[in-house]
Amino acid sequence: MCFYEQQIFNCGDHKWGRFRAHCNKEYRTGETCGMKLIFEASHVATKCPMCKKYEVIWRKIASAKERVARWQAEGINPVSTDKEWASIVQWQRELKDIEVARQTKMRTI
Ligand SMILES: [Zn+2]
Repeated sequence: MCFYEQQIFNCGDHKWGRFRAHCNKEYRTGETCGMKLIFEASHVATKCPMCKKYEVIWRKIASAKERVARWQAEGINPVSTDKEWASIVQWQRELKDIEVARQTKMRTI
């Protein structure tokens, strides 16, 4: 067990920071063991990188859907409609990847 700084993000996720202190057991060997304990937790006013990325992609999907809906409402069907849909499908796949990564991360904590 060794002590590390921990950053807690706005979204509730956390990230381990710098190593701060050895525990008694590891002190003599000068090595760090796998178990991490919180030395000091600091709150970060932003969301974690994963949530930020998720939000950016989510917003891209929303605006692409808006564009397509506007074209449909105006009765125009430009070639780019297909391109927008292809992008939307791709982005939705990326969102799913992030969700899976997030769940895997939660299980390992
Ligand atoms: Zn997060």
